[in-house]
Amino acid sequence: MIIPNDNNRYKNMKYNRCGRSGLLLPAVSLGLWHNFGSADSFDNMVEMVETAFNLGITHFDLANNYGPVPGSAEENFGKILKTVLKDCRNEIVVSTKAGYKHWNGPYGDWGSRKYLLSSLDSSLKRLGLEYVDIFYSHRPDPDTPLEETMGALATAVKQGMALYAGISNYGPEQTETASKILKNLGVPCLIHQMKYNMFTRNLENGLIDVLEKEGIGKIAFSPLDQGILTDRYLHGIPKGSRADKGIGFLKPDRITGEIISKVKRLNEIAKARGQSMAQMALAWALKAGRLTSVLIGASSPKQIADNVKALDNSDFSDDKMALIDSILGDE
Ligand code: NDP
Repeated sequence: MIIPNDNNRYKNMKYNRCGRSGLLLPAVSLGLWHNFGSADSFDNMVEMVETAFNLGITHFDLANNYGPVPGSAEENFGKILKTVLKDCRNEIVVSTKAGYKHWNGPYGDWGSRKYLLSSLDSSLKRLGLEYVDIFYSHRPDPDTPLEETMGALATAVKQGMALYAGISNYGPEQTETASKILKNLGVPCLIHQMKYNMFTRNLENGLIDVLEKEGIGKIAFSPLDQGILTDRYLHGIPKGSRADKGIGFLKPDRITGEIISKVKRLNEIAKARGQSMAQMALAWALKAGRLTSVLIGASSPKQIADNVKALDNSDFSDDKMALIDSILGDE
């Protein structure tokens, strides 16, 4: 159950300033990419959102295509907003995105003004909202001028369909250019959403410096590498896990002996720190990426509660960081 305006939920969460904006985001945010689609249990979705929000997770991340079927995660979250989260709109940050294929024909993909603004309009209808807090360009479009894509984000903000603009999966140079365009349009880029975890370190290849120079917040998706950086796959591929289900991007052939032997060694470090593997992976990402927030996914309320405990121990000595890097770098 959720009680609107309940101060208890804010006591144990850490809130970080998003870049040089006025917006604070929880150090742990919840993404609805998986497990919020039309074939998933609605009761489980409700319990996950209740658990998250009652633990201070105020930020829920969506995209036009999350499901399956595409759009159903927004519809389901819209139902939750109307019921369980009724009277809590001012306490939560909802984000959505457009940029991957969502409908057939020439206007349902990539980064045109036509696609972005009509997609946002449909997202708002599915969510039952007048505005989202953050609207993202989900990926850069090599064939549309960046001015047009950023112009669409700025229009969304100026028309009140979104409070802030964000970008996702942009490289360092594109990010710098996009940021300058948005600043000129009077709508600074709030946040960049990129994949970042112990195994995927692109953020460290120049992007982190651009983001800090431009005052843009950093939120990392798949901080647990879709579950690999947890104890989920230490003894094979369990039934019902993401790798077992065969939907989405985590294929069983990703769970190799080499990867799992690294995770087992990392898990020993986590145990010595009094943490689960998932908790250590999240604490590590927050520190190594100097992140505003880690954007987790979950299939149960318990995973969310466990993951929030990552914040109980988020310090790493330089030696521990080096030890973790040496395990990750081992062939
Ligand atoms: P994670 O790396 O956090 O993976 C989540 C999965 O890990 C869960 O579904 C669960 O798998 C497993 N897991 C989570 N916690 C635990 C735990 N404590 N113990 C054991 N297993 C655990 O994130 P996602 O890949 O789901 O991505 C998170 C969000 O990022 C998405 O929902 C979306 O909002 C965003 N995203 C954005 C993208 C972009 O292009 N901008 C791309 C991808 C994601 P299982 O189901 O097996 O239980």
